[in-house]
Amino acid sequence: MLTRRRFLAALGYSAGLGLASATALAGEARYKARVVIVGGGYGGATTAKYLRLADPHVEVFLIEKDPEYISCALSNEVLADERTLESLTFSYDALSAFYGVKMVQDEVTEIDPVNRKVKIAAGVELAYDRLVVSPGIAFRWGAIEGYDEAASQIMPHAWFAGEQTRLLRSQLDDVPADGKVFIVAPPNPYKCPPGPYERAGLIAHLLWQHNKRQAKVIILDAKENFAKKSLFLRAWEEHYPGMVEWVPGSKDGRVLAVDPQRRTLKTEFDEHRGDVVNVIPPQKAGRIAEVAGLTDGSGWCPVDPRTFESRLQDDIHVIGDACIAGAMPKSAYAANSQGKNCALAIQALINDNPPPEPSFVNTCYSIPAPGYGISVAAVYRLRDGEIVAVEGAGGVSPLEGSDWDWEREMEAAYARSWFVNITSDIFL
Ligand SMILES: Cc1cc2nc3c(=O)[nH]c(=O)nc-3n(C[C@H](O)[C@H](O)[C@H](O)COP(=O)(O)OP(=O)(O)OC[C@H]3O[C@@H](n4cnc5c(N)ncnc54)[C@H](O)[C@@H]3O)c2cc1C
Repeated sequence: MLTRRRFLAALGYSAGLGLASATALAGEARYKARVVIVGGGYGGATTAKYLRLADPHVEVFLIEKDPEYISCALSNEVLADERTLESLTFSYDALSAFYGVKMVQDEVTEIDPVNRKVKIAAGVELAYDRLVVSPGIAFRWGAIEGYDEAASQIMPHAWFAGEQTRLLRSQLDDVPADGKVFIVAPPNPYKCPPGPYERAGLIAHLLWQHNKRQAKVIILDAKENFAKKSLFLRAWEEHYPGMVEWVPGSKDGRVLAVDPQRRTLKTEFDEHRGDVVNVIPPQKAGRIAEVAGLTDGSGWCPVDPRTFESRLQDDIHVIGDACIAGAMPKSAYAANSQGKNCALAIQALINDNPPPEPSFVNTCYSIPAPGYGISVAAVYRLRDGEIVAVEGAGGVSPLEGSDWDWEREMEAAYARSWFVNITSDIFL
């Protein structure tokens, strides 16, 4: 990984160089094109690796603000003491050592689509032929009155894995035996549709294990429905009877305001006080996408689904949680699948070939109790210029089964092997 200082040195700049004197760097002659990728998560890191595999004559820079990647996928298990954050942490070393991806640890602060340059916090501009933006999501701070970044230090969102996950986990130790944990679930669309409900189960598991079986986990939801609902309801009742309660929007579940000091939540008709309050706020595309003019009125990025090229800016592709990808959910698997298709599309475009017909896949596993997995899977293709689910491919875990316990155990095992496979696919 190139640190800011080493990156500047490698490019022939001194670390103190200011913005005004920094010039855009042209691509090296031995490469036929330079692709710069912003964001080294599931989407961006996949694109970087697969583009280098597809065409070693393309120079690939991956700019990521953090030194390592901490996966949100499976981070709910940390809340139940079923996994450590370290087991979710990945280095970028293999991407540079084995695939020749040029890693830069810094934040992209500006994108200039006209002159095809990005600016990083170090003050250097980097020219690109094509840019891939995969910054994930940002929160709509203030959409719930009183919930801002400072409030998240008291009412953690834990929707980015790392410190926030640790904070929420540590707060759970202080829940009294008959205490209340509130989870505020966001409106659609948001990152990981089944995530809040998996979390409810795993928090209930932790409390159950600590003999706090009179405690309650209450989900206040802006929505009327959620992914795999019947399966989650069954899982909660089987494992923690009476502990998990789901309150939909129509039953006054929509949270309008919070008071972090009092740990209270206000809905239209009621006020609730929690011993722990986990607020997952409404979401939009990551900040840099907005700054670069890649978002529309929805707050997300419209793209051509064949190439993931922005509909708003030329030569820029947006993938992962930040983009509008038709029927695909905002998931790690979806971002990985989009990253591979995007890499092939870019390779074709660079070589003046037509981009290939894309095909996507997604499986969202959830583990609402240890050793108990459920899933929803789909294959996606283009139809009339939209990404749609292929009928008859994929499906949801059946609600009944002749060998129910064994099926749940197997799906939990599949979930864990999915994680090993996808992270090896990207980071090894
Ligand atoms: C609790 C939880 C559980 C989940 N479980 C699952 C699961 O089981 N299965 C599944 O498929 N998905 C799961 N997900 C969803 C999954 O984590 C996301 O959908 C996925 O991470 C999206 O990938 P991405 O590349 O779009 O964004 P991210 O993975 O969020 O990566 C974005 C990267 O961009 C970087 N970045 C942002 N802006 C800049 C900038 N300006 N400059 C430089 N770097 C920048 C960030 O630091 C980050 O590393 C879960 C999510 C949560 C919150």
